[in-house]
Amino acid sequence: MTNNFNLASAIHHHSLATPDAPVVVGQGQSLSYGELASSAAHLAHCLRGAGVKRTADGQLPRIGILASRSVGACTALIGAAWAGATYIPIGLKLPEERILTLLALCNLSAIIVDDEGARLLSERVLEACPPTVICLGQRPTVDMPHAAKLIELPTRAPVSLPEPAQVDGDDTAYIIFTSGTTGVPKGVMIPAAAARHYIAMITRHLGLQPSDRALETCELSFDFSVHNMFPTWEAGAALHILPATRVMNAIKFVKDAGLTVWNSVPSLAGMLRQIKALKPACLSSLRVTVFGGEQLPANVVNAWREAAPDSAIFNLYGPTEATVFCLAQSGVLPVTPGRDVVAIGTPLPGSEAAVFDAQGQPVADGTPGELAIAGIQLASGYLGAPELTAARFPVHAGKRWYLTGDQAIRDTAGTFHCLGRIDNQIKINGYRVELEEIDAHLRLVTGADVVGSVAWPWVEGSARGIVSIVGAQSIDSAAVIAGLKHRIPAYMLPNRVIAQESLPLNQSGKVDRKALLAWLDNQVA
Ligand code: AMP
Repeated sequence: MTNNFNLASAIHHHSLATPDAPVVVGQGQSLSYGELASSAAHLAHCLRGAGVKRTADGQLPRIGILASRSVGACTALIGAAWAGATYIPIGLKLPEERILTLLALCNLSAIIVDDEGARLLSERVLEACPPTVICLGQRPTVDMPHAAKLIELPTRAPVSLPEPAQVDGDDTAYIIFTSGTTGVPKGVMIPAAAARHYIAMITRHLGLQPSDRALETCELSFDFSVHNMFPTWEAGAALHILPATRVMNAIKFVKDAGLTVWNSVPSLAGMLRQIKALKPACLSSLRVTVFGGEQLPANVVNAWREAAPDSAIFNLYGPTEATVFCLAQSGVLPVTPGRDVVAIGTPLPGSEAAVFDAQGQPVADGTPGELAIAGIQLASGYLGAPELTAARFPVHAGKRWYLTGDQAIRDTAGTFHCLGRIDNQIKINGYRVELEEIDAHLRLVTGADVVGSVAWPWVEGSARGIVSIVGAQSIDSAAVIAGLKHRIPAYMLPNRVIAQESLPLNQSGKVDRKALLAWLDNQVA
């Protein structure tokens, strides 16, 4: 693969052509392409000065990013890329145990923290950090044994700064962690060639322009952020970060800033619809709307068409393992029969989709099976998990596929429809959650052997919460949730933990989640 790519290349390019154009705006701060390029180059210079370089086995150095959804986070990841590193977002909302797990898995060369990220540097976390922790804000004055790791960026950058380092196509551009059924998160490794292809392809597909102002609604640890940031910057456009505290005021945010591109999971639009914020033409500045990451209900589309009459709507589908989105439906937005959700469409350029039976053979159109994806956007695999990688990325007929776990059909017109999951993965507000992961931690916290978590209740086809049932006579629900809080991210926490002396089991002796759901429904009815 040729040496001609860097995730920071577009920032570098536009900083030379249009240095004063805005690149990122958020929380009262705004940076131009020129400013972001200088800060990123300065950061890259410091990282190199700290000895961050390719490892002895030829891999890119890995840099962890512990930063809020902010202008600073953009500087951190562009700086890491500029230095020729793999960037790895570490979610800010993670409990200490989870951060320690990620640090142990990643073998990082350095970490970049903003002020919010710095607050998570407890003594245990700092001890587990690599020798270089670069603080984008003020270096915290902490009296801890490992405080010498903390480095503040010098206020003055040197006159001569490096250009973005060139990386190979099979180098890893970024690693994003998703929920893992065993209780340990899975690190999805995305090669630079996949990222480069995705960015160029989707920028063209959506027709993004330098004059666009695009919305960012995601944390860096959700790969939707890759979609929001890099194509916007590829086009030379500006990214506007919606603060987490203003999510319910997103409409006013879009209006005030005159945004032209909306990016979010459908749940956000669904919530805005429910609070009756989607008034006719209230989003008239939008020309492109991207929904993705979870099923798109038809009623959200109808409300959106009225609210954003001049916007094209794209339903983008994809797993993190296939570089954000790999299928798309736009235009008419056909509804999947019997499900009231929009079809996931057809493969985007560079991707291929097929529906397989349990033996890995393609099924006839109209027959349900497991959706599999092939093509340039596939991840190289899961960090440090070759067996899991081999199981989820099998080779069929000489081609490497990713088995998505989604049940799907392709109709006779060639359009793919998602029918749900064949496993126990759910989405909560766009976050991927493996119910077995909650169960694994629940067993450790409660000491019970038989536990079962389910997504419940369901409102208009979307999971609104999680309920965990523990095989025990009685349980202190608040204490169990508090115990889980130390181990799993907030979005995975059950709203309720219920004790039941015996749980329904299926034929293979596993907890029967369908029966648990029916039981919960009956309790309420
Ligand atoms: P993640 O890797 O966290 O983005 O999760 C990927 C999973 O989200 C897919 O395997 C699907 O189950 C679901 N998903 C993503 N996009 C869509 C969509 N447009 N419609 C239906 N489900 C989707």
